[in-house]
Amino acid sequence: MNTPLLEVRYDILAANARAVVDLCKKCGVEVWGVTKGCCGMPDVARAMLEGGVAGIGESRLANLQRIRNAGIHAPALMLRLPHLSEVRAVVEYFDMSLNSELVTIEALSREAQRLEKRHGVILMVDVGDLREGLWPDRVLETALRVSRLGGIELLGIGTNLSCYGGVIPSESNLGLLVQLARQIEELLGHPLRFISGGNTSTLPLMAQGRLPAGINMLRIGEAILLGTESINRTPWPGTRQDAFVLHAEVIECATKPSVPIGERGQDGFGGRPAFEDRGLIRRAIVNIGRQDVLVENLACLDPGMDILGASSDHLILDVTHADERIHVGDIIDFKLGYGALLQAMTSPYVEKRVV
Ligand SMILES: *Cc1c(COP(=O)(O)O)cnc(C)c1O
Repeated sequence: MNTPLLEVRYDILAANARAVVDLCKKCGVEVWGVTKGCCGMPDVARAMLEGGVAGIGESRLANLQRIRNAGIHAPALMLRLPHLSEVRAVVEYFDMSLNSELVTIEALSREAQRLEKRHGVILMVDVGDLREGLWPDRVLETALRVSRLGGIELLGIGTNLSCYGGVIPSESNLGLLVQLARQIEELLGHPLRFISGGNTSTLPLMAQGRLPAGINMLRIGEAILLGTESINRTPWPGTRQDAFVLHAEVIECATKPSVPIGERGQDGFGGRPAFEDRGLIRRAIVNIGRQDVLVENLACLDPGMDILGASSDHLILDVTHADERIHVGDIIDFKLGYGALLQAMTSPYVEKRVV
């Protein structure tokens, strides 16, 4: 085994997608699978599509190009607001995008007409999380303007929650979204195709039967990738939490004290860590570090092991109470949170293997 290695379990991803898709279907909601946590890894997109998602949501053009180059031609939704300098490629590669700025939609309109294509737009509304989205009092006027642009199809409206502000989706904030959608429909005289009610964090409200009627699309990454909801990070019913496992290799293992010896300044990253005195412990160093993974978002699969800290290239573990006695060359397994997954996927030093 070449290490560090991130193992991607295709069948678990497909089954997780299926579980989420089936539940959403019962509530009249279609699922778009979000692959940005895996840098648009084509096999992850394939697994989600096999699990029944309606299309792929990606935040970055380069990730979608990777998916397209692998021969996957499912409908694609651009999640991050397009920047002006990429609108041409966005129209070329994506069927639709989330948007909040009229200037950008006008630029998309020009490129769509030039390419003789129609580009779908979902207008984002900020219902309180304070990331992207039109303020509600601007929505009607903007929708009317967008509906008149050539090459653009106003497909619906949407919102995003729990990302920047940590605001939990509710009957009240998603109810406002539906109310605005109905006003647009009245104004335009035809129904909107999508009312997009957020991401993984909307699943608990939906499962409680409290999702406002009318919401018919969710954009789901985490619940499929990690099998967790994103409000308290508890396991999501019907999914597994082990679609990804990170393997790293022990490069030193020795019995040493738990508290450094000598006068202490800053550590390698400008912090001043505190140390718990555990006496003499068996310490293992494995070949992964802050350059590869968000260490705080990582956990050892063996509950008897403990992460003590890390530098750029080293992760230091307390293996005193490990299941088995650890030696140089042993492989240690870790599970990852969203941030750790994202960074491991992004690190060129971590090999990825789909099984
Ligand atoms: C990342 C993202 C999602 C998916 O979020 P998860 O919490 O992984 O389900 C959905 N919508 C937008 C706009 C995003 O940026």
